[in-house]
Amino acid sequence: MKTLLILGAGTAGTMFANKIIRKLDRHEWKIILVDKDETHYYQPGYLFLPFEINKPEEIIRPKRKFVPAGVEFVLSDIEQIEPGANKVTLTKDNRVIQYDYLIIATGTDIRPEQVEGMLGGGWQQNIFDFYTFDGANKLTNFLKTWKGGRMVVNVAEVPVKCPVAPLEFVFLADWYFTRRGMRDKVEIIYSTPLPGAFTKPVATTLLGNILEEKGIHVEAEFNIGEVNSSNNVIRSWDDREIPYDLLVAIPTNMGDPVIERSGMGDELNYIATNKHTLQSEQWENIWVLGDAANLPTSKAGAVVHYQMDAAIENLLAHMGGRELKASFDGHANCFIESGFNKGLLLDFNYDVEPLPGLFPLPVVGPFKLLGESMFNHWGKLAFGWMYWHIMLKGIDVPFLPNDFSMTGKNAPKLVNLNQTL
Ligand SMILES: Cc1cc2nc3c(=O)[nH]c(=O)nc-3n(C[C@H](O)[C@H](O)[C@H](O)COP(=O)(O)OP(=O)(O)OC[C@H]3O[C@@H](n4cnc5c(N)ncnc54)[C@H](O)[C@@H]3O)c2cc1C
Repeated sequence: MKTLLILGAGTAGTMFANKIIRKLDRHEWKIILVDKDETHYYQPGYLFLPFEINKPEEIIRPKRKFVPAGVEFVLSDIEQIEPGANKVTLTKDNRVIQYDYLIIATGTDIRPEQVEGMLGGGWQQNIFDFYTFDGANKLTNFLKTWKGGRMVVNVAEVPVKCPVAPLEFVFLADWYFTRRGMRDKVEIIYSTPLPGAFTKPVATTLLGNILEEKGIHVEAEFNIGEVNSSNNVIRSWDDREIPYDLLVAIPTNMGDPVIERSGMGDELNYIATNKHTLQSEQWENIWVLGDAANLPTSKAGAVVHYQMDAAIENLLAHMGGRELKASFDGHANCFIESGFNKGLLLDFNYDVEPLPGLFPLPVVGPFKLLGESMFNHWGKLAFGWMYWHIMLKGIDVPFLPNDFSMTGKNAPKLVNLNQTL
């Protein structure tokens, strides 16, 4: 009996387990799925908690509910991965699992201690995150009674998972305080290490215009060096200061400490991964899925969905001694909630930046790319349903092809665009 070991039962690990079980001979393969947490969190829902769009119980489910029959689920932290010895040690009972193939899907998480002073006196007093279930719930309670002041939303460094979530937060904050009749009492500042609202030029200009229309000030190229929670000020490495009454922090995102303990990652604990095959660059029997990989595309659930088939096809090819052929093109799409029941949609890949147009079909859409629409907002809400009922269960979505397509997209600035690819 051979062993396929999957580390992490989040978005990628769960989706992968559900798909691979249908492909492998159960008499030949034992599949083990390990996670330290019983609960599956729908992380896009963290964004909605502070604005009371979602209730906490709506965005969690027991992990075991999504583990397919035939897969052994082990609840344990991982002590050590030893890729040279094809061996993983769990903290629970010091169990050692010898594997033939390993899938690493341990994701990424916030590390507030990486920013000097962030965990000082103000943490969860007037400094909150919304990238964790606990953080988002605490921020929800704070906002309910907040009387207003200067709210600074700070992205500490990139990459962060769902890179548009901080932007969505400021858009929704604008809507939330307007609805509560106190928008004039809240100044909203968006501070980012990027030169503008997003990483790519066309989207940056468009999103920058929306921020301006909503009266949200952008403090660009702000690389945070310190939080001074005695004076309620954040300071950049080039000595710029931004005072705050409420700091909504998106701290440094890093891969799990087990990757560091096992000497498998870069300085942010991300694992070097072939961007087309999803195979580890260093170990040929290891595949890295989702946020744990160092891929130059967004860290997002939608990306996990699009990369899944290429990963599985290549893994099966390797198992069968065939050439790896399937190619992941970096396809990503992100709905951006912009408040007042509207949203935008970005669709891009490794080579083509987000462009305006319609998605997935030309003329018909129904989603508008890089433009606000109510349909996009409904799409974002429907994504939650799709996540629990279709994506996690590894069911194919025929109307969302894995490969990026230029169909429906307008590329009016093709000359400029070519310079940025
Ligand atoms: C606020 C917010 C909004 C978002 N919005 C969107 C969105 O709108 N659209 C979108 O596509 N994506 C969105 N995302 C991103 C999306 O949730 C992630 O990209 C996706 O969950 C990544 O899947 P993953 O499997 O790589 O990691 P995860 O889903 O995080 O799973 C990692 C799993 O590994 C387990 N694990 C880690 N280390 C260990 C260990 N040492 N031992 C045992 N188990 C371990 C964890 O418990 C976890 O279950 C959002 C994320 C956040 C935080």
